[in-house]
Amino acid sequence: MAGALPSYRPITQANAEGKKLNMALCGLGTYSEILSRGLENSQYCRIAGVVTGTPAKAEDWKRRFELPQKNIYNYHNFDEIVHNKDIDLVYVVLPNSMHKEFVIRTAMAGKHVIVEKPMANSVRDCQEMIDACKKAGVQLAVGYRLHFEPTHLELKRLGQEKVFGQVRVIEASLGYKSGDPTAWRLNKIMAGGGPLMDIGLYCIQSNRYVLGQEPLSVTAQFGPVTNKKLFSQVEESITWQFEFPSGTICNSTSSYNCNIDRFFASADEGTFELSPALGYGPYKGRTSKGELNFPVINQQGAQCDAIAKTILQDQQLPGHITGEEGIQDMRIVEAIYEAARTGHRISIGR
Ligand code: NAD
Repeated sequence: MAGALPSYRPITQANAEGKKLNMALCGLGTYSEILSRGLENSQYCRIAGVVTGTPAKAEDWKRRFELPQKNIYNYHNFDEIVHNKDIDLVYVVLPNSMHKEFVIRTAMAGKHVIVEKPMANSVRDCQEMIDACKKAGVQLAVGYRLHFEPTHLELKRLGQEKVFGQVRVIEASLGYKSGDPTAWRLNKIMAGGGPLMDIGLYCIQSNRYVLGQEPLSVTAQFGPVTNKKLFSQVEESITWQFEFPSGTICNSTSSYNCNIDRFFASADEGTFELSPALGYGPYKGRTSKGELNFPVINQQGAQCDAIAKTILQDQQLPGHITGEEGIQDMRIVEAIYEAARTGHRISIGR
């Protein structure tokens, strides 16, 4: 799953404030609030600045996190961040369609960048982002919070080490009920697609890291539109089936009209499962041999700490959380949409 890693610009010790990476959150919506709670007890990074289009939010965050005015940016003066030695990394937490622009602007300012999933709205955009970060010599990470979560690391071990033999079938689905007609997630241009882009990615990811393989092909079907008012632009639900090199079949549904959050793997000599599985948790799971009991951690804190520690130590980020992973997810997403649109089995390349 790891691709070629970009080279990057080491940060200076003075810039690192001892052992903490200085992070600016860009886009102060729901997920930035969740991230800020995760960063409260961070060992390796801290919120040092913000980028927002809303002056009231700028004031609120400035007060809550004791930020100097010089570390507060809006979307227009953002490029001035190039002169700010007290910001090492920008975490882009904007609607999906804005990821590309702000990742490229961050790279051009010489700052490392984390971008939320989905990395962008197309493979082409992902490639431009990767190229811009390579050219600028900065590191690019995608916000895959489950890559540092103990229960998911155990799923990966069970699958990849074949603890119950070869996994033959996986079912992984994630859905919730969406009701706000004004939400950007229901706008095709802003979101790039519906639940597949938003939460279906977690199903795709779990298949890939449990098997340690890339899907060869996919068939897919859009679900019926039961609410025409909400779902005039993006799918309401979508179901797909992957075939992997091991012959493993993976079935998934991702939906904005039902609550579902589960993972089930059937292997030659046993099974392992989680429900809840892919949302924020806490996760509940078992194998055919007994309960799965792992500590509940702050996923966002663990993710940011792992990324910040790697950068502070002057190391390259592991491929499974870089832009190479994000672009592979987008290749798969584009293949799923093509399969659903055409009714054909679509091969997935790399
Ligand atoms: P949100 O709508 O709560 O926040 C988006 C922010 O962007 C808001 O502060 C809004 O003011 C700002 N914004 C700037 N320009 C905008 C515009 N033209 N239209 C709408 N908003 C605009 O969204 P969110 O839930 O915080 O999601 C942000 C990103 O984080 C998305 O890419 C989403 O997929 C990702 N996310 C990831 C996770 C995860 O578990 N990793 C969870 C939630 C969201």
